[in-house]
Amino acid sequence: MNLKRVRQRAAHSWLFLGALFVLGGVLGFLQYRWTGEVSVAERERLRASLRSSLFRLSQDLNAEVAAACRSITPIEAQPSATQTESEIAARFAEWKKTTRHERLFSRIALAVPGNGGFELHGLDLEQGTFAPAEWPSEWAGLKQRLHWQMSPGRGPFRDFPHPQDPLTIELPLFAMPRPGDSGRFFQREPHWLIFELNLQALRDSVLPDLIERHLNTADDPDYDVVITTRTIPPAVIYQSDPGRTVQEVTAAADASVPLLDLRTEQFRRWAPGVPGPRSVQPFARRGGFGGGRGRGMMDAFARWEMYVRHRAGSLEAVVSRARWRNLAVTAGLLMLMGAAAVALARYTRREQRLAELQIGFVAGVSHELRTPLTVIHTAAYNLRGKVAASPEQVERYGALIQQESGRLRGLVDQILDFARAESGYVVKEPEPVNVETVIDEVLDSAKALIEAHHCSVEKQIEPGLPAISGDRVGLRHALANVLNNAAKYGSKGGNWIGVFASKIEKRNQVEIRIADRGPGIPADEQEQVFEPFFRGRMAVENQVHGTGLGLNLAKKIVEAHGGSIQVKSELTKGTVFTIRLPAAANARQP
Ligand code: ADP
Repeated sequence: MNLKRVRQRAAHSWLFLGALFVLGGVLGFLQYRWTGEVSVAERERLRASLRSSLFRLSQDLNAEVAAACRSITPIEAQPSATQTESEIAARFAEWKKTTRHERLFSRIALAVPGNGGFELHGLDLEQGTFAPAEWPSEWAGLKQRLHWQMSPGRGPFRDFPHPQDPLTIELPLFAMPRPGDSGRFFQREPHWLIFELNLQALRDSVLPDLIERHLNTADDPDYDVVITTRTIPPAVIYQSDPGRTVQEVTAAADASVPLLDLRTEQFRRWAPGVPGPRSVQPFARRGGFGGGRGRGMMDAFARWEMYVRHRAGSLEAVVSRARWRNLAVTAGLLMLMGAAAVALARYTRREQRLAELQIGFVAGVSHELRTPLTVIHTAAYNLRGKVAASPEQVERYGALIQQESGRLRGLVDQILDFARAESGYVVKEPEPVNVETVIDEVLDSAKALIEAHHCSVEKQIEPGLPAISGDRVGLRHALANVLNNAAKYGSKGGNWIGVFASKIEKRNQVEIRIADRGPGIPADEQEQVFEPFFRGRMAVENQVHGTGLGLNLAKKIVEAHGGSIQVKSELTKGTVFTIRLPAAANARQP
């Protein structure tokens, strides 16, 4: 692969990444717009479903109360009040046996017309017997209405004063005409059966049951519910969460519904087609039960109003919260995509750099191989062709061949070592290694190179250095690579090489520093010198022999021993490589 193709591929990956980011942005924006539209529809759907739940709840409550009243109310009044009472008592006892809400009513009484007014007979709900009773003060409005009903010049029923009492239901009981009855008897004023709903029972079971059934509030209530009377000022009938004020719920309700919309026709039990008593007709004309009546009608007759508000504040809040959650997930995904793209970019960049370095390496190594080979070839040619005849000349050519083949061998060894260490350098059989001995060996083997570069060596080894547990040959190799660099590059300047070894007591480590007073390494190259195939600009320009593998190999070896290698360098001042290795006791075992 040539350099041009490597760069082309890198440019393509950058283009791809750019496109990915633009696409991510566009998708994010579209998601934002579309979820906005979906949210509006969702809010409307939620509201409609809430309204229909409330409507069904209202119908269920009406049906439940009406069914109870119907079971207890006789079809007609008997000629005598006592007879009517005993029929009511019998029906009441029967109803009690079958009902789910035995305590639905707190009082049941019969208002019997007489003496220009009504006498009240109360039913003892425990004993099931009737006894004369006083009109309770809370029933004053009701009593007034019954009187109005008896007054000669009264208008039709629909002119009854509204609103109805919040807790009482009064039902007229008419006597049916019998054979022999005079028309006068038939026009007799009705008895009134009065039911008073038991507020405590409503709060404890009737209303919570209904709310749970229709709003699914069993486990985790989503809604706050408040029911108030429709009187002015309103009184609270029911409140699902006493921690919230009534105003909080009613003022910002998501939906409301009129409750307890009871009209006389709901209590009729006569067969369809049989007309009821005349006085009931005005009610019936106002819209049949179950007929398409609007909220206006319900408003007029309902005794209570139910307000429902979502716990999150409102349905808008719920939907917008869901929308933001949705967007957060998208943003998270886009960020993930971005992070993946950045990682990909870094990887691509690294790959590109590595490819460039490899291409440079091949060119460099070819050159490094060719030079000594050419020298050896020429020397051999001269020897064979007797160009070098004198023993001194033969000796010189021999030495030349030896020197160049040594260089060749070093080069090949370096590449082979690198290839071996590529899959991870492992210290196979660690042995105690004396640091000073290794340093001396390395200095000894580099003697020729050091002398060739006219360098002086300053060596300082702290006495009593602990041994290192490791691979002696490997460590020698690593130190040699660093030391050879100091001679190769550091000689152009101070011609001085410092080798220091000391121990770091606190960390139980041995520190080896190899310093030179050469031209130094430019800051931008310092972090790259340990990368494989990397060669500095100056090294290439000055045609210093090398492969770019030495420091990478040294780093791999040192790290395999549990140690570290760092470089500190200042241009024109010199370079220091610091190697730290754990002392024997702490040395990592293979
Ligand atoms: P090589 O020496 O074969 O080029 P290395 O891995 O040993 O490869 O070194 C990588 C690069 O680090 C060198 O090409 C050189 O630019 C730079 N370098 C290493 N040691 C020194 C030093 N002591 N002074 C200046 N530059 C150095």
